[in-house]
Amino acid sequence: MTCPYCQAENADKALVCASCGRDIAVPATLIAERDDLLRKRDQLRDELTRARDEVEALMRRRKSR
Ligand SMILES: [Zn+2]
Repeated sequence: MTCPYCQAENADKALVCASCGRDIAVPATLIAERDDLLRKRDQLRDELTRARDEVEALMRRRKSR
């Protein structure tokens, strides 16, 4: 993980930058929020896929008539 303040390279799980000593850990609330957004994104993707399939099925039905 690169320190956003001094650009020094730190271990991925570092809580504090080894170079400038600033707090670089991502707050747990932000991580939880991100996980929530990722879940919602996956749900939307599933819905989109289903909707697309439905439209395709409708088009096919219309064509065969
Ligand atoms: Zn730093």
